[in-house]
Amino acid sequence: MQMTDDTLDKIKTLLATIKEKSPFYAQKYASLDPRDVQDQASFEQLPLTTKDDLRNAYPLGLAAVPPEQITRIHSSSGTTGTPVIIPYTARDVEDWSLMFARCYEMAGITKHDRIHITPGYGLWTAGIGFQLGAERMGAMAIPMGPGNTDKQLQMMMDLGSTVLGATSSYALLLAEEIARRGIGDRIQLRKGVIGSERWGDRMRRRIADELGVELHDIYGLTEIYGPGIGINCEADEAMHVWDDYLYFEIIDPATGALLPDGESGELVITTLVKEGAPLIRYRTHDLTSFVPGPCPCGSPYPRIERLVGRSDDMIKVKGINIFPAHIEEALAATTHASSEYQVMIDHLDGKDIMTVFFETGATGADRVQAQKELKGIIRAKLSLSVVPKAVDLGDLPRSEKKTKRIFDNRY
Ligand code: ZN
Repeated sequence: MQMTDDTLDKIKTLLATIKEKSPFYAQKYASLDPRDVQDQASFEQLPLTTKDDLRNAYPLGLAAVPPEQITRIHSSSGTTGTPVIIPYTARDVEDWSLMFARCYEMAGITKHDRIHITPGYGLWTAGIGFQLGAERMGAMAIPMGPGNTDKQLQMMMDLGSTVLGATSSYALLLAEEIARRGIGDRIQLRKGVIGSERWGDRMRRRIADELGVELHDIYGLTEIYGPGIGINCEADEAMHVWDDYLYFEIIDPATGALLPDGESGELVITTLVKEGAPLIRYRTHDLTSFVPGPCPCGSPYPRIERLVGRSDDMIKVKGINIFPAHIEEALAATTHASSEYQVMIDHLDGKDIMTVFFETGATGADRVQAQKELKGIIRAKLSLSVVPKAVDLGDLPRSEKKTKRIFDNRY
């Protein structure tokens, strides 16, 4: 994307003092002078910042302000190894709340709404981000956190929650529970703000239908404030992102080279005004693309497509690159298949075998047909032969956080 003059000014201001303020960047940029960056092209020559870099700065090595200016820390959940700690100043927290409130407004949520917040609170940025935005906007925050479905549903009915903030798998779990208990007419939800996970169309439709809500995808990551740096509007599926706070690039995940607008690749983000832990050209590993042209809603904020996966979620089977989104699209196109699935990859008798377990309400011949259909769709799309295995609805595990769906048993 073309860098605006305003963005370039912010970047030059940031780079002018980054080595003095941030020991992390002083070390990372030891052999270069970031003040040499005078235009977009020279900015694009700066090395990328990676999650491993951030891990190596544990605990507070990312801080670019004196300790007394740090008012809060958050930490990314990292499944393995050392966590990443992100220090925030008061201004960072304020900016985050402004961005999150802007997300709610973009989704048509107002101060009259009652926002039922189910993501976790604590070191994780999820719950507290939903809360900050709600308070900033003046809506009623209902800080439930995850778990205890009975209490969730009781509070939802008693307080008349109108907006659900959740991960997609937890929203699905609640939707199924509401349907099972037959309490749909006592639920007043009108919007769902779903974050922190990529999810397929079929799952989206199921949640929307069963809860009777309009769904919005909210984007964000702990390293860059948290959720709230982008959301889709009421006119379009793609997510608007806040380019007055952040600068976005899309690179080829394999080579690091910048990609032309419209091509799918890995999102790279630079914080323009963050004080506690500014990040320059940070690799998100989220795969998306810029959406060219203006949005029908009239908003001037640029858009990125819904995430199609993570560059580190990519698996190679028989030489073919596969993302979870591929499986989800195939399931969405299969009659009688639900959105829930699990993929197992094994190496047997010298070859890779990919088994796709999926839930279906169908039995008998319909069930056999669903398996055949799924196999055919995946073969047509990916030139890959898989073993389809239908299971009953509810047989695959649900989780309140992120649901792991692909298991690679080859190594
Ligand atoms: Zn829009």
